[in-house]
This record gives sequence, C-alpha cells and structure tokens, in this order.
Amino acid sequence: MNNSTSDLLNRLSESATIAMARMARELKASGIDVISLSLGEPDFDTPDELKQAGIDAINANETHYTPVSGTVRVREAIAAKFMRDNGLNYTSDQIVVSSGAKQSLANVVLSLVNPGDEVILPAPYWVSYAEIIKVAGGVPVVLPTSIEDDYKIKPEALDDAINDKTRMVIYSSPCNPSGSVYTQSETSNLADVLRKHDNVYTISDEIYELINFTPRHASLAAEPGMMDRVITVNGVSKGFAMTGWRLGYIGAPKWIADACTKIQGQFTSAPCSIAQAAAAAAVEADPSISKPMVDAFLRRRDAMHASLSKIPGINLNIPMGAFYLFPDVSELFGKSFNGNTLNNSDDIAMFFMEEAHVATVSGEAFGTPECIRISYAASDEILEEASRRISVAVSKLL
Ligand code: PMP
Ligand code: GLU
Repeated sequence: MNNSTSDLLNRLSESATIAMARMARELKASGIDVISLSLGEPDFDTPDELKQAGIDAINANETHYTPVSGTVRVREAIAAKFMRDNGLNYTSDQIVVSSGAKQSLANVVLSLVNPGDEVILPAPYWVSYAEIIKVAGGVPVVLPTSIEDDYKIKPEALDDAINDKTRMVIYSSPCNPSGSVYTQSETSNLADVLRKHDNVYTISDEIYELINFTPRHASLAAEPGMMDRVITVNGVSKGFAMTGWRLGYIGAPKWIADACTKIQGQFTSAPCSIAQAAAAAAVEADPSISKPMVDAFLRRRDAMHASLSKIPGINLNIPMGAFYLFPDVSELFGKSFNGNTLNNSDDIAMFFMEEAHVATVSGEAFGTPECIRISYAASDEILEEASRRISVAVSKLL
C-alpha cells in the first residue's frame, strides 16, 4: 500500500484558527475549564427573521439544485445590496454565491493564479489566504506592517512589492486579525497604486463590513477605474451571525465570475438552496439588523482593550472593526515559566492555553509573529475572566 498523501496536501498546513479551537474543545472535554477565544465567530444567534426565511424556503420546497452561481433571487438581492451599501454597480451575472466566503476566495485564487505567480499579502493576513494560494501553486509574498502603522500597509510599500510576477493582492478591511479598518483616503491611495498595474487583480475581503466602529466602510472596487481589477468578497457569516449556513459571495468582472462558476460546478455546485434564501433575506434586511451585535462588540472591545492594556508586556492597537484584539506580545519573548523559555508567539499562545486555560491563536499563522489573536466574540463575563487569567499567568513569568 502507498499511504502517502498528495504533494498538494503535503504543502498545506492545517488552519491554525481551527486547530486551536479543536485543542480547546479537547481540553474542555477532558474536564478543564478552558475559555476559547480562538475561533472567529459571533456568539450571537442568527436573527429570527432570517431563520424564518430559511424555514419558509423549506416549506416552499426550495430544496432542489439551483443554478451553480446561485438563484436569480439571491444574486439580484446581492447586486442591490452592493449598490445600496457600497455604490458598486454589479449585475446579477457578476455575482457568484458559494459555500462560505472561504470557498469564494478559493474559487477566485484558483481561477487567476498560475504556479509561480506571486500574491501579495499585507500582514497580518487571514490564515487561509496563504494556504489557498499555495494550493494554486502561487507564491505568497508577505508585506509586513507593525503596530506603529496600525497594521496597515503604506501605498509606497505596496508599489515596491509589485513586480512582473505579481498576479494578485489579497487584503481585508476590517481586517482579521488586526481589526484595522482602511479609511476612505487610505483606500483611495491603495487604488492609485493598483491602477498602475494592469496584470494585478485585488481581492478585497469585506466580510467584516458590518462590524465596523468607524462611520463608513470603504470598498476598493468603488474607487474610480477599479471595477475591472477588484474582486469583492463578502458573506453572511459575520455580519448576520450565520457562520453555519455557509454562504459567501463575490462581485467580480464577468469573466472572473464565469471562471468561478466553472470551478464551483465541478467541486460543490451551488451552495445550499435554503441558505441562499436566508442570505437573500439578510442582504435585503436593513443593515441595522446587526446593530445590537455590533454595539455589544464595541462595548467588549473597550472593556477587553482596557484590561489587557494594563498587563505589562502586552501592547495593543485599537481595532476599529471585526471582533479581534491582536496584541503584540514580543516583550514577553525570552521570559520563562517553570524553567521553560517562551521564545515566540506559538509559545505564548500555548502558555496561555496551558497555564491560563485561555485559547488564543499565535500570530505566526497570520504572518505577524510578534502577536497573538484574541477573539472577543464571547460574553462580557467570560472576557473579564479571560483577562484576569491572562494577567495572573503573565505575572508568573520570570
Ligand atoms: N475571510 C475572513 C477574513 C474571515 O475571517 C473568514 C472567517 N471564516 C472568512 C473569509 C470566511 O468566512 P465564511 O467561509 O464563513 O464565509
Ligand atoms: N474566520 C474565522 C477565524 O478566523 C473562522 C475560522 C476559520 O474559518 O478559519 O477564526
């Protein structure tokens, strides 16, 4: 028997977010009281009216295969949402719905990236970007940022990184994991650079659009001349607390939407018909449907930021969106506990897991090894307890 897995699989790492969540679940099952702040998903339930749209779809027997790119209804609803919220004029044949934004991202990367092509990832970036690029045979090119820049890239750094091999740039705003939000003028400045490079496409991952504490969300594709160069990725997982429904989508130039439909037609076909109906209701709903959740996230951000900022060796930016804190913990590198030195953020994340029983995610997998990611999508009481435990654990370091 030849039990070896494929080269493609061997190139792939396990998702660090999912791995830490799994470890926390296992520790919990063994009786340890672990607080899991590792997985990024809202701790709220899907709003009732969106659940009802799914139930109505079942009762109306919308339980058959749909067109691969999604029903006309959901694609028209998404096109209307893009116009209403983002000023983007996509027609319904430029929309493709998929089984989560994760599949949307994979479709786009597999449609455009050839082996050896470079894909620029401003760091910190979401863990799965780098792995999806590797599946396509592409080469992730990491552009570092720092806490001083609020973890946002400067246009000059982007311009310097683009060369003849560059095929794509992928970034998210609001950003997972830093929570950074590009302002309108910062978005315009990035567009000024990207517009000069006809071979380069940009994925603007806007899945945290609704979890934004600034007054405005800026869409890159809305910048002059960018519609043909940008793929806008979004979905209902985060803004509507619908992670389990598995529904993401793109707005893209038609030839890219067609390419994604072709790939998806061979891998999964359309996403779940019931989830499509609920997603149509979500994007048609007044965006204020998410307000109670977003208000809670802002309150928790403030509380968690205040308590973690007091801990020596933990340095934070102020995230303006999403539901993560991304503290720089590099001042703790070199300290030791029970004779073991903590050398990097992997060690710090394991130390917090084992000593504080708080699950976080190391910044290594996000391309920013000075940091760890803490999701604050948990109740106020749990977050307070998590901060207390982290503080006690850090005080034990020598
Ligand atoms: N992009 C980012 C930045 C994310 O954090 C997530 C969360 N899983 C996704 C895409 C994918 O979301 P989903 O597949 O649940 O739509
Ligand atoms: N996007 C979430 C996170 O970053 C969910 C987990 C995942 O899909 O990797 O934790």
